[in-house]
Amino acid sequence: MSLNTQQLDQADFQNSFVEELRGEASRNKNPRQVPGYHYSRIEPTPVRDPHLLAWSDDLGGFLGIARPDERGPAVDALAGNLITDSMKPFAARYGGHQFGHWAGQLGDGRAISLGELKATDGSTWEIQLKGAGPTPYSRRADGRAVLRSSLREFLCSEAMYYLGVPTTRALSLVGTGDTVVRDMFYNGNPQDEPGAVVARVAPTFIRFGNFQMMAVAGEMDNLRALADYVIQHFYPELGAPSPEVYMRWFEEVCRRTAVMIAHWMSVGFVHGVMNTDNMSILGLTIDYGPYGWLEPYDLDWTPNTTDFSSRRYAFGQQPQVALWNLYQLARAIVPLVKEPEALRASLDQYTKTLAETQHTMMLRKLGLTNQASDDHALIESLHEALTESQVDMTTFFRRLSQAAPALISSPENQAALFQEILQAASYSTSPEGEQLLTQWLQRYADRLRQEPADPEAIRESMLSANPKYVLRNYLAQQAIEAAETGDLSVLSRLMEVLKTPFAEQPEHDELAAKRPDWARTKAGCATLSCSS
Ligand code: AMP
Ligand code: MG
Repeated sequence: MSLNTQQLDQADFQNSFVEELRGEASRNKNPRQVPGYHYSRIEPTPVRDPHLLAWSDDLGGFLGIARPDERGPAVDALAGNLITDSMKPFAARYGGHQFGHWAGQLGDGRAISLGELKATDGSTWEIQLKGAGPTPYSRRADGRAVLRSSLREFLCSEAMYYLGVPTTRALSLVGTGDTVVRDMFYNGNPQDEPGAVVARVAPTFIRFGNFQMMAVAGEMDNLRALADYVIQHFYPELGAPSPEVYMRWFEEVCRRTAVMIAHWMSVGFVHGVMNTDNMSILGLTIDYGPYGWLEPYDLDWTPNTTDFSSRRYAFGQQPQVALWNLYQLARAIVPLVKEPEALRASLDQYTKTLAETQHTMMLRKLGLTNQASDDHALIESLHEALTESQVDMTTFFRRLSQAAPALISSPENQAALFQEILQAASYSTSPEGEQLLTQWLQRYADRLRQEPADPEAIRESMLSANPKYVLRNYLAQQAIEAAETGDLSVLSRLMEVLKTPFAEQPEHDELAAKRPDWARTKAGCATLSCSS
């Protein structure tokens, strides 16, 4: 243990959320409405045998927290079995639109925050235990989480961080020693599954839905207090809260959300449940549930079985849905601003920022720097060709990066090169798809030759924009199946490899493989439910 790290149970927690916002005095965990409050002071419910399954070394180091032993007081704290003197655990009250419909009070039904830690750089981070037991917001559910969904959240939030996508983080995955009953596909087959708790980490877990809840309940003082808290702690550069500052703050939330969505679209991430209660007020990817990674390029794809009929949250819908969600946030904060019409301008700004950011990111993925006038059309036709050919998104861009120097310098070998890229990335491409993609490659190669940079430099820069390794759905499932038998080696290997997703790591080539055929329709790989 290095000198500047300590065990979690020795850490000094701060409690700004609890101290600056309104919490009810009752510690009653019965499910109920909690009008008038931002949160409830609720303690986690202990589990039988907390043991550490995984730990994020980098995040721990950043927070100044040492990796704990498999069992002991630090792991007890990470499971909710040990509440230290400086912790003031709470569950937040929020509401949300679920699948387009206002769902009323939701709240932290199984997440309990312990408080905030000061990181080694002086910044402050909330530590939240997901699966820590019932709260007043648990409604009819048990407040617990199963190992499979917890492992998915733990792995993916860290993988997203290393890809450079704005996200909440995860510090630990702890097995509880308890079983949890879940009907995974809501088909009348409830089963015992191993339980787990993830310690999630973010500056705050406040969502659009926290504001909506206060607004819908007509709690104007609470609404303002919440906005002031968020601005003072997380948007201090905007200055002291005022009607003008609320406007600028909303504009900034729109901007950050646009940047987050652009990232998702550029790596093929599908969140799966973009309800307004799953939208972070900091523009971070939050609440990893039935998410998935695009394999065959398909705007209509979602892994979430609950969404199969409407496809509201499919890959290609995400930009529009985020805008719809921002509109709901705007409606909630109207009472705080003087000119509600100006909120509309920020929503327009979202669309503009998103388009610009997506364009810039796509230029980087394609290694294009000296803006040519028809780059927009080139990118547009790439989307068409990808959609038609349904090639593997990650493999396609990675192979394209590798091939860039040859595309530039050996026009005579192009047909073979195109074929090689296509074969590497293709699942079962139609002749039309193949033709469209080949035509696009031709056009792209011509365009690439206008680039002034050295071909090797272009390749390097493309390799740093197109990951080799993403958390493919079937890989997460393999890690889960191994972990459920007590084998954590798949999980730890994935954690290690996904730390440097842009690096070649040839010894791990197989983790960059396209979805194998067995995973095409398999539960957990191709389909996921909200039951977690
Ligand atoms: P999600 O779909 O995971 O974003 O959850 C939506 C709402 O349901 C949130 O208020 C969650 O806290 C709550 N919830 C989900 N699963 C459980 C559970 N097992 N126990 C209690 N509350 C839950
Ligand atoms: Mg949620």
